[in-house]
Amino acid sequence: MNAHVNLQEGAEAPFYLPQGDECEVFAAAHANRLPALLKGPTGCGKTRFVTHMAARLGRPLYTVACHDDLSAADLIGRYLLKGGETVWVDGPLTRAVREGAICYLDEVVEARKDVTVVLHPLTDDRRILPIDRTGEELAAAPGFMLVASYNPGYQNILKTLKPSTRQRFVGLEFDFPTPANEIPVVARESGLSEEQVKPLVRLAGKLRALKGQDLEEGVSTRLVVYAATLIAQGMPVERAILAAMIEPLSDDEDVKRGLLDLVTAIY
Ligand code: ADP
Repeated sequence: MNAHVNLQEGAEAPFYLPQGDECEVFAAAHANRLPALLKGPTGCGKTRFVTHMAARLGRPLYTVACHDDLSAADLIGRYLLKGGETVWVDGPLTRAVREGAICYLDEVVEARKDVTVVLHPLTDDRRILPIDRTGEELAAAPGFMLVASYNPGYQNILKTLKPSTRQRFVGLEFDFPTPANEIPVVARESGLSEEQVKPLVRLAGKLRALKGQDLEEGVSTRLVVYAATLIAQGMPVERAILAAMIEPLSDDEDVKRGLLDLVTAIY
Protein backbone atom coordinates (compact mmCIF):
# COMPACT_ATOMS: atom_id res chain seq x y z
CA MET A 1 0.00 0.00 0.00
CA ASN A 2 1.37 3.32 -1.05
CA ALA A 3 0.29 5.32 1.96
CA HIS A 4 2.28 6.79 4.71
CA VAL A 5 1.26 8.81 7.69
CA ASN A 6 3.08 11.86 8.92
CA LEU A 7 1.91 12.72 12.36
CA GLN A 8 2.46 16.43 12.28
CA GLU A 9 0.79 17.65 15.42
CA GLY A 10 3.20 19.79 17.34
CA ALA A 11 5.80 19.37 14.62
CA GLU A 12 7.39 22.40 13.03
CA ALA A 13 5.99 23.06 9.55
CA PRO A 14 8.44 22.09 6.80
CA PHE A 15 9.77 25.02 4.76
CA TYR A 16 7.39 26.25 2.06
CA LEU A 17 7.76 29.54 0.23
CA PRO A 18 4.30 30.70 -0.93
CA GLN A 19 3.80 31.58 -4.59
CA GLY A 20 0.76 33.73 -3.85
CA ASP A 21 -2.19 33.52 -1.48
CA GLU A 22 -2.46 29.71 -1.62
CA CYS A 23 -1.85 29.29 2.13
CA GLU A 24 -4.72 31.62 2.99
CA VAL A 25 -7.09 29.98 0.49
CA PHE A 26 -6.21 26.50 1.76
CA ALA A 27 -6.70 27.54 5.40
CA ALA A 28 -10.06 29.10 4.54
CA ALA A 29 -11.14 25.94 2.69
CA HIS A 30 -10.13 23.83 5.70
CA ALA A 31 -11.98 26.09 8.14
CA ASN A 32 -15.10 25.84 5.97
CA ARG A 33 -14.85 22.07 5.47
CA LEU A 34 -14.26 22.32 1.73
CA PRO A 35 -12.06 19.92 -0.22
CA ALA A 36 -9.20 21.27 -2.33
CA LEU A 37 -7.80 20.31 -5.72
CA LEU A 38 -4.19 21.27 -6.45
CA LYS A 39 -3.44 21.53 -10.15
CA GLY A 40 0.04 21.82 -11.55
CA PRO A 41 3.05 20.13 -13.10
CA THR A 42 5.01 17.47 -11.27
CA GLY A 43 7.72 18.65 -8.90
CA CYS A 44 6.48 22.23 -8.47
CA GLY A 45 5.83 22.08 -4.73
CA LYS A 46 2.29 20.69 -4.28
CA THR A 47 3.24 17.91 -1.87
CA ARG A 48 5.51 20.22 0.12
CA PHE A 49 2.63 22.71 0.31
CA VAL A 50 0.20 20.13 1.74
CA THR A 51 2.77 18.88 4.25
CA HIS A 52 3.41 22.46 5.31
CA MET A 53 -0.29 23.31 5.64
CA ALA A 54 -1.10 20.10 7.56
CA ALA A 55 1.57 21.04 10.10
CA ARG A 56 0.38 24.62 10.30
CA LEU A 57 -3.21 23.52 10.85
CA GLY A 58 -2.11 20.88 13.35
CA ARG A 59 -3.72 18.00 11.47
CA PRO A 60 -2.24 14.55 10.82
CA LEU A 61 -1.62 13.91 7.12
CA TYR A 62 -2.23 10.74 5.15
CA THR A 63 -0.64 10.82 1.72
CA VAL A 64 -1.60 8.32 -0.98
CA ALA A 65 0.36 8.19 -4.23
CA CYS A 66 -2.33 7.14 -6.70
CA HIS A 67 -1.53 4.67 -9.48
CA ASP A 68 -3.59 2.87 -12.10
CA ASP A 69 -4.15 -0.15 -9.89
CA LEU A 70 -5.32 1.81 -6.87
CA SER A 71 -8.89 0.84 -6.00
CA ALA A 72 -11.52 2.12 -3.60
CA ALA A 73 -10.72 -0.77 -1.25
CA ASP A 74 -7.09 0.40 -1.02
CA LEU A 75 -8.38 3.72 0.30
CA ILE A 76 -11.26 2.49 2.44
CA GLY A 77 -9.93 -0.75 3.87
CA ARG A 78 -10.48 -4.47 3.67
CA TYR A 79 -10.92 -7.64 5.68
CA LEU A 80 -7.61 -9.35 6.27
CA LEU A 81 -6.78 -12.71 7.76
CA LYS A 82 -4.85 -12.29 10.98
CA GLY A 83 -3.94 -15.32 13.08
CA GLY A 84 -6.84 -17.35 11.68
CA GLU A 85 -9.32 -14.52 12.24
CA THR A 86 -10.79 -12.13 9.74
CA VAL A 87 -10.36 -8.56 10.88
CA TRP A 88 -11.29 -5.28 9.28
CA VAL A 89 -8.36 -2.96 8.61
CA ASP A 90 -9.04 0.70 7.82
CA GLY A 91 -7.44 2.17 4.72
CA PRO A 92 -5.81 5.63 4.83
CA LEU A 93 -8.96 7.48 3.75
CA THR A 94 -11.07 5.83 6.46
CA ARG A 95 -8.42 6.58 9.07
CA ALA A 96 -8.32 10.22 8.00
CA VAL A 97 -12.14 10.46 8.13
CA ARG A 98 -12.23 8.97 11.64
CA GLU A 99 -9.38 11.09 12.99
CA GLY A 100 -10.22 14.40 11.35
CA ALA A 101 -6.96 14.28 9.39
CA ILE A 102 -6.01 15.61 5.98
CA CYS A 103 -6.04 12.95 3.26
CA TYR A 104 -3.90 13.84 0.24
CA LEU A 105 -4.52 11.86 -2.94
CA ASP A 106 -1.52 12.63 -5.10
CA GLU A 107 -2.20 12.31 -8.87
CA VAL A 108 -5.81 11.28 -8.28
CA VAL A 109 -6.58 10.84 -12.01
CA GLU A 110 -4.26 7.84 -12.03
CA ALA A 111 -6.55 5.90 -9.68
CA ARG A 112 -9.23 3.50 -10.82
CA LYS A 113 -12.71 4.81 -11.63
CA ASP A 114 -14.34 3.38 -8.50
CA VAL A 115 -12.23 5.76 -6.40
CA THR A 116 -14.03 8.87 -7.61
CA VAL A 117 -17.40 7.36 -6.67
CA VAL A 118 -16.19 7.02 -3.08
CA LEU A 119 -15.09 10.64 -3.02
CA HIS A 120 -18.45 12.13 -3.99
CA PRO A 121 -20.37 11.80 -0.68
CA LEU A 122 -17.22 12.97 1.13
CA THR A 123 -16.82 16.09 -0.95
CA ASP A 124 -20.28 17.56 -0.58
CA ASP A 125 -21.91 18.85 2.57
CA ARG A 126 -22.82 15.35 3.72
CA ARG A 127 -19.14 14.60 4.43
CA ILE A 128 -19.81 10.91 4.83
CA LEU A 129 -17.90 7.80 3.86
CA PRO A 130 -20.12 4.79 3.24
CA ILE A 131 -18.25 1.56 3.87
CA ASP A 132 -20.22 -1.08 1.99
CA ARG A 133 -18.25 -4.01 3.37
CA THR A 134 -19.00 -3.27 7.02
CA GLY A 135 -22.32 -1.48 6.53
CA GLU A 136 -20.92 1.57 8.33
CA GLU A 137 -21.61 5.10 7.24
CA LEU A 138 -18.89 7.26 8.73
CA ALA A 139 -19.37 10.97 9.28
CA ALA A 140 -16.10 12.82 8.82
CA ALA A 141 -14.65 14.12 12.10
CA PRO A 142 -14.09 17.88 12.35
CA GLY A 143 -10.77 18.80 10.82
CA PHE A 144 -11.03 16.19 8.06
CA MET A 145 -10.10 17.55 4.64
CA LEU A 146 -9.77 15.83 1.31
CA VAL A 147 -7.00 17.19 -0.90
CA ALA A 148 -6.29 15.87 -4.37
CA SER A 149 -3.68 16.83 -6.91
CA TYR A 150 -3.42 16.36 -10.61
CA ASN A 151 -1.25 17.43 -13.50
CA PRO A 152 -3.39 18.94 -16.25
CA GLY A 153 -0.32 18.97 -18.52
CA TYR A 154 -0.42 15.34 -19.56
CA GLN A 155 -2.21 15.29 -22.88
CA ASN A 156 -4.37 12.31 -22.10
CA ILE A 157 -8.09 12.88 -22.43
CA LEU A 158 -8.83 9.58 -20.74
CA LYS A 159 -7.02 10.78 -17.66
CA THR A 160 -8.69 14.00 -16.85
CA LEU A 161 -11.12 14.59 -14.04
CA LYS A 162 -14.78 14.57 -14.92
CA PRO A 163 -16.60 17.89 -14.31
CA SER A 164 -18.91 16.12 -11.86
CA THR A 165 -15.85 15.32 -9.74
CA ARG A 166 -13.74 18.43 -10.18
CA GLN A 167 -16.67 20.74 -9.47
CA ARG A 168 -16.69 19.48 -5.90
CA PHE A 169 -13.33 21.00 -5.03
CA VAL A 170 -11.91 24.43 -4.41
CA GLY A 171 -9.18 24.66 -7.05
CA LEU A 172 -5.66 26.00 -6.57
CA GLU A 173 -3.33 26.37 -9.51
CA PHE A 174 0.39 25.77 -9.03
CA ASP A 175 3.27 26.38 -11.36
CA PHE A 176 7.03 26.38 -11.11
CA PRO A 177 8.13 29.20 -8.82
CA THR A 178 9.27 32.45 -10.45
CA PRO A 179 13.09 32.84 -10.51
CA ALA A 180 12.87 35.26 -7.57
CA ASN A 181 11.24 32.45 -5.56
CA GLU A 182 12.97 29.44 -7.08
CA ILE A 183 16.49 30.72 -6.33
CA PRO A 184 16.01 30.91 -2.53
CA VAL A 185 14.01 27.64 -2.52
CA VAL A 186 16.74 25.71 -4.35
CA ALA A 187 19.50 27.34 -2.28
CA ARG A 188 17.78 26.46 0.95
CA GLU A 189 16.95 22.88 -0.08
CA SER A 190 20.43 22.10 -1.46
CA GLY A 191 22.79 24.17 0.65
CA LEU A 192 24.29 25.74 -2.48
CA SER A 193 24.72 29.54 -2.46
CA GLU A 194 22.13 31.70 -4.23
CA GLU A 195 24.88 32.93 -6.58
CA GLN A 196 25.60 29.34 -7.68
CA VAL A 197 21.90 28.52 -7.94
CA LYS A 198 21.12 31.45 -10.25
CA PRO A 199 22.48 29.90 -13.49
CA LEU A 200 20.69 26.62 -12.71
CA VAL A 201 17.39 28.47 -12.41
CA ARG A 202 18.13 30.38 -15.62
CA LEU A 203 18.75 27.04 -17.35
CA ALA A 204 15.51 25.68 -15.89
CA GLY A 205 13.66 28.62 -17.44
CA LYS A 206 15.14 27.83 -20.83
CA LEU A 207 14.29 24.14 -20.53
CA ARG A 208 10.72 24.96 -19.53
CA ALA A 209 10.35 27.13 -22.61
CA LEU A 210 10.93 23.97 -24.70
CA LYS A 211 7.84 22.27 -23.32
CA GLY A 212 5.57 21.12 -26.11
CA GLN A 213 8.39 21.28 -28.68
CA ASP A 214 11.19 18.88 -27.82
CA LEU A 215 10.05 18.13 -24.31
CA GLU A 216 6.79 16.76 -22.96
CA GLU A 217 7.29 18.45 -19.59
CA GLY A 218 9.55 21.27 -18.39
CA VAL A 219 12.20 20.56 -15.77
CA SER A 220 10.73 20.44 -12.25
CA THR A 221 11.92 22.40 -9.22
CA ARG A 222 12.62 18.99 -7.70
CA LEU A 223 15.20 18.30 -10.42
CA VAL A 224 16.82 21.71 -10.00
CA VAL A 225 17.15 20.89 -6.29
CA TYR A 226 18.76 17.54 -7.22
CA ALA A 227 21.30 19.24 -9.52
CA ALA A 228 22.14 21.84 -6.88
CA THR A 229 22.49 19.13 -4.22
CA LEU A 230 24.96 17.16 -6.38
CA ILE A 231 26.97 20.32 -7.05
CA ALA A 232 26.96 21.19 -3.35
CA GLN A 233 28.37 17.71 -2.69
CA GLY A 234 31.28 18.43 -5.06
CA MET A 235 30.12 17.05 -8.41
CA PRO A 236 31.30 19.08 -11.43
CA VAL A 237 28.51 21.40 -12.59
CA GLU A 238 28.06 19.94 -16.08
CA ARG A 239 27.99 16.38 -14.82
CA ALA A 240 25.38 17.25 -12.20
CA ILE A 241 23.22 19.05 -14.76
CA LEU A 242 23.41 16.14 -17.18
CA ALA A 243 22.45 13.67 -14.47
CA ALA A 244 19.73 15.69 -12.76
CA MET A 245 18.31 18.11 -15.33
CA ILE A 246 18.83 16.49 -18.74
CA GLU A 247 18.76 12.69 -18.52
CA PRO A 248 15.39 12.68 -16.70
CA LEU A 249 13.82 14.84 -19.46
CA SER A 250 14.57 12.90 -22.61
CA ASP A 251 15.89 9.61 -24.01
CA ASP A 252 16.51 11.07 -27.46
CA GLU A 253 20.25 11.61 -28.09
CA ASP A 254 19.68 14.56 -30.43
CA VAL A 255 17.40 16.29 -27.99
CA LYS A 256 19.86 15.72 -25.14
CA ARG A 257 22.71 17.18 -27.22
CA GLY A 258 20.57 20.23 -27.95
CA LEU A 259 19.84 20.66 -24.24
CA LEU A 260 23.53 20.39 -23.40
CA ASP A 261 24.18 23.24 -25.85
CA LEU A 262 21.89 25.38 -23.70
CA VAL A 263 24.11 24.57 -20.72
CA THR A 264 27.22 25.68 -22.58
CA ALA A 265 25.46 28.91 -23.53
CA ILE A 266 24.73 29.69 -19.88
CA TYR A 267 28.02 28.66 -18.25
P1 ADP B 1 4.89 18.01 -6.44
O1 ADP B 1 4.14 17.45 -5.28
O2 ADP B 1 4.25 19.21 -7.06
O3 ADP B 1 5.26 16.95 -7.46
P2 ADP B 1 6.96 18.54 -4.47
O4 ADP B 1 6.12 19.21 -3.46
O5 ADP B 1 7.44 17.17 -4.18
O6 ADP B 1 6.28 18.57 -5.92
O7 ADP B 1 8.20 19.53 -4.77
C1 ADP B 1 9.45 19.08 -5.14
C2 ADP B 1 10.51 19.80 -4.36
O8 ADP B 1 10.58 21.17 -4.78
C3 ADP B 1 10.25 19.87 -2.87
O9 ADP B 1 10.77 18.74 -2.21
C4 ADP B 1 10.97 21.12 -2.45
O10 ADP B 1 12.35 20.84 -2.27
C5 ADP B 1 10.89 22.01 -3.68
N1 ADP B 1 9.91 23.10 -3.69
C6 ADP B 1 9.15 23.46 -4.76
N2 ADP B 1 8.43 24.56 -4.50
C7 ADP B 1 8.72 24.90 -3.23
C8 ADP B 1 8.29 25.99 -2.38
N3 ADP B 1 7.40 26.91 -2.82
N4 ADP B 1 8.80 26.05 -1.14
C9 ADP B 1 9.68 25.12 -0.71
N5 ADP B 1 10.13 24.09 -1.46
C10 ADP B 1 9.67 23.97 -2.71
